[in-house]
Amino acid sequence: MVGTELLLGEIVDTNATFLARNLADLGIDVFYKSTVGDNLERISGVVRAALRRSDIVIMSGGLGPTDDDLARETVSLVTERPLEENPGVLRDLKHWFAERYGQTPMPDQNRKQALFPRGSQIIPNPVGTAPGFWLEKDNKLVIALPGVSHELRTMFTETVGPRLSSLGSGQVLVTRNLHFVGIGESSLQEKLADLLREQTNPTLALYASGGTVRIRMAVKASTRQVGLGQMKDLEAEIRKRTKEYCYGADGQTLEEVVAQRLVEQELTLALAESCTGGLIAHRLTNIPGSSAFLNRGYVVYSNQAKAEDLGVDPATLEQFGAVSAETAREMAQGARLKSQTDLGLAVTGIAGPTGATPTKPVGLVYISLATSGDTIVERHLWKGTREQVKNRTALMALKLLWQTTK
Ligand code: ATP
Ligand code: MG
Repeated sequence: MVGTELLLGEIVDTNATFLARNLADLGIDVFYKSTVGDNLERISGVVRAALRRSDIVIMSGGLGPTDDDLARETVSLVTERPLEENPGVLRDLKHWFAERYGQTPMPDQNRKQALFPRGSQIIPNPVGTAPGFWLEKDNKLVIALPGVSHELRTMFTETVGPRLSSLGSGQVLVTRNLHFVGIGESSLQEKLADLLREQTNPTLALYASGGTVRIRMAVKASTRQVGLGQMKDLEAEIRKRTKEYCYGADGQTLEEVVAQRLVEQELTLALAESCTGGLIAHRLTNIPGSSAFLNRGYVVYSNQAKAEDLGVDPATLEQFGAVSAETAREMAQGARLKSQTDLGLAVTGIAGPTGATPTKPVGLVYISLATSGDTIVERHLWKGTREQVKNRTALMALKLLWQTTK
């Protein structure tokens, strides 16, 4: 990973995460990751060390036209392959500039983007100016990609990944993720203890974050299809034991699953949000077509708003407070009645860091769901920052909706 801005903490190294994930999916073991600033000597040192200890070295960044873009120079130095101008790439660069800027000629500075260490194969860049390169020498492979994330991703997906997978054992690593909510990592572990113990191929791993747990199944197989087939029985067994908690697989989100259910069951929804300030509405409206079920969302932050907009009884607010089971219940029922929807979902809580009282600590949250039948109220107490409490509240509100629409 080349770039001084990475070392200054100015940008997050998302390229490393992307590459690590995709290399794992190809069954290529990643043993080291180095980050280095835009300095010829230091980049050369890192590339030299990397080539000593690994078969494949992938570089990100430093392919631009400016003087601090040094990837091609360092690889040339370390591999002792002189830089040569590639006429095809130079022509494409000039063409790209002419298309963009008309009469203005390409700056001389950009000529350097057509230079590659001798013997390199060009990795096309369909979404930017700088192509990458692939250089094999002494049974080692150096791959240089631009730092700009969407360029790196496109080039990896279209060219590098397929070429790397054809180099390997002929086996691909196939992964599938299952997502859980409403159950902790250790409880899930207990339910699956024997499966976790016996795992070899497929392998199983648990990851918890922000109130959800993910199980990653991985298998090495000749093709993706064969791999997915090998995971079928295991997935069925996991789902059988955990069905009240498993909400989806791979890219599926909780709001997506909830939205699907509401649409299928033709249910409409109104939201009343206090401590989440509209976060639940935001998550649900991230789903295309949410207008089919979401009627409206109230952000009712003050007592006045809770009373005026939702009809919460001022006596309830007075007696039990804004953060109470009673208020949450009246908010949910009020939202449902005022909007004439099938469901009313309400949250009220103390997100912190201020606002706690002796009987009501930071992180105390009530979530309520009013239906045509009854009204459910849940009490939660979470630790964490203001943002974490808000996120957790939104997540658990969606979870309640999900469980109720089963
Ligand atoms: P350019 O042609 O833009 O100069 P480059 O290949 O020289 O591309 P860099 O100059 O190193 O790449 O980085 C360009 C931009 O790409 C950075 O400003 C940053 O926004 C992004 N970037 C660089 N490295 C990373 C990384 N490891 N993860 C995420 N983004 C990155
Ligand atoms: Mg650059």
